[in-house]
Amino acid sequence: MQIFFPKEEGQEIRATILPEVAKKFVDLGLDVVVEEGLGSSVFVADELYSDAGALIATSRENALNSADIVCRINKPPKEELSSLKKNSIHISFLDPFNEKDLVKDFAKHEISAISMELVPRITRAQKMDALSSQANLAGYAAVVEASRTINKSFPMMMTAAGTISPSRIFVIGVGVAGLQAIATAKRLGARVEAFDTRPVVEEQVKSLGAKFVKIDIGATEETDQGYAKELTEEQIKMQQEGMKKICSQSDVVITTAQVFGRPAPRIVTSEMVQAMQPGSVIVDMAVSTGGNVEGSKADEYVFQNGVTIIGMSNLPGEVAKDASQVYGSNIYNMIEEYWDLEKKSLNFDLHDDVLKGCVITHNGQIVNNLVKSRM
Ligand code: NAD
Repeated sequence: MQIFFPKEEGQEIRATILPEVAKKFVDLGLDVVVEEGLGSSVFVADELYSDAGALIATSRENALNSADIVCRINKPPKEELSSLKKNSIHISFLDPFNEKDLVKDFAKHEISAISMELVPRITRAQKMDALSSQANLAGYAAVVEASRTINKSFPMMMTAAGTISPSRIFVIGVGVAGLQAIATAKRLGARVEAFDTRPVVEEQVKSLGAKFVKIDIGATEETDQGYAKELTEEQIKMQQEGMKKICSQSDVVITTAQVFGRPAPRIVTSEMVQAMQPGSVIVDMAVSTGGNVEGSKADEYVFQNGVTIIGMSNLPGEVAKDASQVYGSNIYNMIEEYWDLEKKSLNFDLHDDVLKGCVITHNGQIVNNLVKSRM
């Protein structure tokens, strides 16, 4: 069975796998093919993949034609689907709720598409959970970027020339990214406050040594997978009102709020940005799903009344080598879980809880109920 890793397109810096993971696939008995230059953006030479036992493909078209499994980070260019073999498996992030045509094309070409964002949040699937592995690094990178942009130090410093006060950081949304943002800001010595609509998070925030901000927005819900449910307009207003003062006193605001399968909630208004001190910084980590901050723009630094709003859409790419390492491991863990060592093929059982959650097309049909319901 042949597994192919095409080089990522455009601005992507991460590589789908590093040579250590290529070797693990070879040891499993797969024929591993990587496109020439796969690791060049993370300074990993083709020879290292060859040393691990992978073949280097100079023609993407030929490699796509013969691959049984194709793995990437980002969704494929639409025109490449016709190069894939019927019944081959394609694994990547797919944004399936928005990429309806792509989903239909996968079905049309009879490709089994696995959407990495739909890997269920169950214990058995944690090792395959690329949303979490990337969000964790993104949370770290967001704080590092904010610390580089702001014109003050994060830690308190007591010097002969006087005392420098610590920076105040406010983290809005405490999932995987938010928790890592809090931990990183604390390590750098900042004073950290955080808020999330899910009350269960309070304990986690406190255990990291940060303060949980309490805002009464009435009853909130979460899904069985731990995702927040959408707030009502009235609740968002109550939240904004409750946060106004904290934002205005913060040197850095980091927003990570997401609602699964929906546009990100708009939490920080222009009025709230205006109330912040000139020189302060906002990192909108939800910029690619619509943005938590009014005025933020993907891949831009926006300046509003002296406040810098950072909207980097690929924060894991700031630590691309580590992001590649953990993403590759997620993919490996998924394939290894279903690999039949004797038959040297995948047990593609759609009754399996994990596959039921993340396989979206199979045998020419859209098979995922959640995706089907949004078509
Ligand atoms: P996410 O990226 O969907 O959202 C980020 C955070 O934003 C969430 O904590 C959410 O509650 C919060 N949020 C949504 N609307 C908000 C608003 N209006 N204001 C403030 N915050 C708002 O979340 P995630 O990082 O994917 O994690 C969601 C949950 O799933 C977390 O509890 C996480 O620990 C859990 N999780 C479980 C597993 C598992 O395998 N069991 C794996 C990963 C994550």
